[in-house]
Amino acid sequence: MSLKGKTALVTGAASGLGKRIAEVFADAGAQVVVADLKQADAQAAADAIASKGVKTMGIAMDVTSEQAVDEGFARVQKELGAVDILVSNAGIQIVAPIQDFKFSDWKKLLAVHLDGGFLTSRAAVRQMIASGRGGSIIFMGSVHSKEASKLKSPYVTAKHGLEGLAKVIAKEGAQHNIRSNVICPGFVRTPLVEKQIPEQAQELGISEEEVIKNVMLKETVDGEFTTVDDVAQAALTFASWPSNALTGQSLVVSHGWFMQ
Ligand code: NAD
Repeated sequence: MSLKGKTALVTGAASGLGKRIAEVFADAGAQVVVADLKQADAQAAADAIASKGVKTMGIAMDVTSEQAVDEGFARVQKELGAVDILVSNAGIQIVAPIQDFKFSDWKKLLAVHLDGGFLTSRAAVRQMIASGRGGSIIFMGSVHSKEASKLKSPYVTAKHGLEGLAKVIAKEGAQHNIRSNVICPGFVRTPLVEKQIPEQAQELGISEEEVIKNVMLKETVDGEFTTVDDVAQAALTFASWPSNALTGQSLVVSHGWFMQ
């Protein structure tokens, strides 16, 4: 699965899933833009990938800011050319029971996942139409695009919402050869999840081991975490798929936690 000659932009790519996806895309020959909140973090991750022999760029891009997203995409177009692949991956997690959920936290979480998904995909679609090449848009959903869990009202809402956005872009984008899909991982041990383990233990009044065994991995077929590599391979498949045969879809990568 080659991405030679393609330019890929991955948001939230200084850490976790995004970081691994950026590395795997570089291994497949793509020029890779690492976008994240802090310039220094994005640059460090981009520099690490540059050793693979592809052009890379690290940019500070808060995906909730229209100005930051539009200026970031303009800079990429100028320096590397139009974006062919977007992975809208940046995300955060905040857990609390709904009766205690602060409205400010609800809005913060929806802004990163939904505003971020909209702003980055709009910017990518504009470049993909203008280049005449089309491209592939990949949203980072979750099993929580399909299922609910306690304590995660805005996260589950946002991840379900991204499926709708991806399907609309699949319909509107087809005539421009733009594909749009969602990856739905189960739990992966990234910083986002490591932080949640003690938080959920406290909220639910159980041990951290019980959170892992009885909350996070309970419904999997084998009690295993999904890995960053599993998710990066799914991203590579969507990124390199050559036709509109694979669009408007979501792929669940979760050790069977959710079955379609
Ligand atoms: P992570 O915390 O390791 O990485 C998230 C990255 O997003 C960080 O580098 C962070 O700085 C960046 N980010 C946060 N807010 C941002 C903003 N406003 N603008 C730009 N960047 C921002 O987490 P991760 O587990 O790698 O999560 C990546 C994505 O995968 C998220 O969308 C998350 O919801 C999703 N996901 C994760 C899991 C999991 O188990 N880890 C499972 C399903 C889905």
